[in-house]
Amino acid sequence: MGDLPAERAGHLPELARKLLEANRDRPIRSTTGRRGQDLFVYGRAPRPCLRCHTSVRVADQGDGSRERPTYWCPTCQPGPAPAPARRVRHTPNN
Ligand SMILES: [Zn+2]
Repeated sequence: MGDLPAERAGHLPELARKLLEANRDRPIRSTTGRRGQDLFVYGRAPRPCLRCHTSVRVADQGDGSRERPTYWCPTCQPGPAPAPARRVRHTPNN
């Protein structure tokens, strides 16, 4: 994990408020504000991250018997990462 600059950290409460208000009455959450592209990373593998355009990675959680894989952008979310799955197993609707 990297450090978050103080000027960006100061904006987090307002961003959190906006996201909570924008999503409180929606069945599908959105963090991007873009219709049809609601999430920056989740569910996008192997398509590009909506923030930096790096190919999104996906890996199974645990032994792979769970239905929810992990998605991450290696540029926006650097650090320890699981070995990528050999194929995309899950494509959510959002
Ligand atoms: Zn990214």
